[in-house]
Amino acid sequence: MRALLIEKDDQGYRAAVQNVDEANLPAGDVTVEVAYSTINYKDALAITGKGPVVRQFPMVPGIDLAGRVTQSDSPDFKPGDEVILNGFGVGELHWGGLAGKARVKSEWLIPLPKAFSARQAMVIGTAGYTAMLCVMALEQHGVTPERGEVLVTGAAGGVGSVAIALLAKRGFTVVASSGRSEEAEYLRTLGAAEVLDRSILSEPGKPLQKERWAGVVDAVGSHTLANACASTRYGGVVTACGLAQGMDFPATVAPFILRGVTLAGIDSVYCPREKRLQAWDLLARELDPKLLELVAREISLEEAMAVSGELLQGKVRGRIVVDVTR
Ligand code: NDP
Repeated sequence: MRALLIEKDDQGYRAAVQNVDEANLPAGDVTVEVAYSTINYKDALAITGKGPVVRQFPMVPGIDLAGRVTQSDSPDFKPGDEVILNGFGVGELHWGGLAGKARVKSEWLIPLPKAFSARQAMVIGTAGYTAMLCVMALEQHGVTPERGEVLVTGAAGGVGSVAIALLAKRGFTVVASSGRSEEAEYLRTLGAAEVLDRSILSEPGKPLQKERWAGVVDAVGSHTLANACASTRYGGVVTACGLAQGMDFPATVAPFILRGVTLAGIDSVYCPREKRLQAWDLLARELDPKLLELVAREISLEEAMAVSGELLQGKVRGRIVVDVTR
């Protein structure tokens, strides 16, 4: 099979498309012929070696995959079933989706939602499913459109783009924070009512600022997350899922103890199966397929290395879907 393989040895850290013997696939009870995978932020870190994502070498990256079961020792799946996988350490600890085939544990797989093709599911990918987890958390903590505006940071990226579309569909007034003014029209087409320059949020700010946000979807971390908390309204909710600006969180407890702000952490990788199924079911019902096409850029396996570099430089708009057959 063709696979993107990451190696690390005396010659350094490198990623290249290679022909790999399928006998080298890791242990698992289901084998999947992969149709599409994706490049998430984490994949870009893994492929370029710019972050400590890969914990075993050689590694096939790709935290997402969609494809068809070819062999199964599990009663839950049979050959021909269409499936998707997001996370569970795939592409980090266990060979992932950027290859012709993957062998995985059946409990990591979920059926491809009927509303989506394999390609559409991968346009959504971990980034889009994480956006849905953020929206679910806002709702769970009582944020409704009547409460006020919702801020989305890292807006033109994968999580941000899908979050805007989902929130606007639910009737929220969405304010998008982006460093790319040239993407303002794209962000408005997705459903943003207003676009802010991200520099407003990315510099050190006061512990408590003017109350504005009823809810926040933050994919950026660092000062942006601290400022988002500091400008969240009384009783509001901030969902933290990313670290595109940084992993630090230079904040005070003031918003939490004086305004009752809730900071909700979002993890997609080990999210329990029931919640995943719920998230994908909501995505199938609420995401406009036309907007998905607007968000998507398709690439080949060979292009994955160059595009990973672009993504980490903040130059990729929306979501990258990888046709692993070319
Ligand atoms: P993308 O690269 O697609 O988007 C990130 C966006 O963040 C960029 O498009 C850019 O948006 C903004 N950004 C980039 N650099 C900076 C910076 N230095 N300062 C401020 N903003 C910046 O990544 P994803 O959307 O796939 O992922 C976003 C984050 O969420 C990542 O950190 C990722 O690791 C994390 N993540 C976490 C998950 C979880 O389970 N918790 C799951 C999925 C993702 P713009 O140009 O509009 O400003």
